Amino acid sequence: MKRPTIGLGRLLGIRIELDYSWFLVFALLTWSLATGYYTQSLPGTPALGTWGLGALSAVLLFGSVLLHELGHALVARRDHVPVRRITLFLFGGVAELGAEPAGPLAELRIALAGPAVSLALAVLFAVLQALAGPTPLRALFALLASINGTLALFNLLPGYPLDGGRVVRAALWGLTHDVARATRVAARLGQGIAYLFVMLGAWEILLGNLGGLWLALIGWFLAGAASAQVTQQRLHDLLAGHRVAEAMSRDYTAIPGDRTLQQLVDEEVLGRTQRCFMVEQDGETLGLLTLHDITAVPRSAWPSTSAAQAMRPAALLRTTSPDADLWLALEAMQRDGVNQLPVLADHHTLGLLSRDGVITFLRTRRKLGA
Ligand SMILES: [Zn+2]
Repeated sequence: MKRPTIGLGRLLGIRIELDYSWFLVFALLTWSLATGYYTQSLPGTPALGTWGLGALSAVLLFGSVLLHELGHALVARRDHVPVRRITLFLFGGVAELGAEPAGPLAELRIALAGPAVSLALAVLFAVLQALAGPTPLRALFALLASINGTLALFNLLPGYPLDGGRVVRAALWGLTHDVARATRVAARLGQGIAYLFVMLGAWEILLGNLGGLWLALIGWFLAGAASAQVTQQRLHDLLAGHRVAEAMSRDYTAIPGDRTLQQLVDEEVLGRTQRCFMVEQDGETLGLLTLHDITAVPRSAWPSTSAAQAMRPAALLRTTSPDADLWLALEAMQRDGVNQLPVLADHHTLGLLSRDGVITFLRTRRKLGA
């Protein structure tokens, strides 16, 4: 399920979103820079000054990460890989690509674009630091130079999904022509590096250095991302080559548009635990009504609201077709945060593909030894 984010608008046509975890990091970073770095490097500066510089640095770090991700995104777009969005979160950002790069060379270019931007920013801030007159500005530029340098180096660590891991993946992909295996190996390396970070962090904490907490947190976060990639790849391998028709359910519940929500809840939801209905008229699909849509209407309005009024109309629904690739359909559900897709052919519903349905499909196949 996609995490909730805040939309920041578009930059060069690319949607920029902010994960809520970023606010926590912003606060922590401002605090640690104000009371640590700026208090030490600018002795005698009033608290307002160090806190102001701390907050400014955190915002500029945010800008640096954004430029890093834009580097990936713009090169991806030039390589004809669609960019869905850039999300900025806890320890950096992700430029979410809408497709796999066409080949290992494109993957390599996209992977290296981010660290190249960070490296260029590090050089730029180092030059600015040398040119700047006032001490606070010099301290700010020095910090940004080192942060961007660290960003470039950290991202080049050879574990997927870090950029360096993508470089490894591109190299293995080019050598073996097996993208699935390349992803698996790169993601396992990513898990290894992540556990190393956690252990190093724990060691530092044991030695009394609380800075180890950052290392451990980064490692823990990386481990999650690498494991998600391993799982995702395994799922891909299992579903690749299968069609939506194989996993969809044909016994969905069709209802007429004039049924009231109260009737539905009394007769279908409570009695038969149905959670999802296709609203149909004369065999034509009008829309989809889920339990979520019903609960979005105040309970007192259930007797007077019809299914057609509360449903999501067919024109606004993402749907799939029986011949569609099962893996791509599942990806679309994950991306949109929905649990089911109506399977349509010629405006007629043939069935419903649900995440549960995909899991059942996989279980059945394993039981049958397929
Ligand atoms: Zn990157």
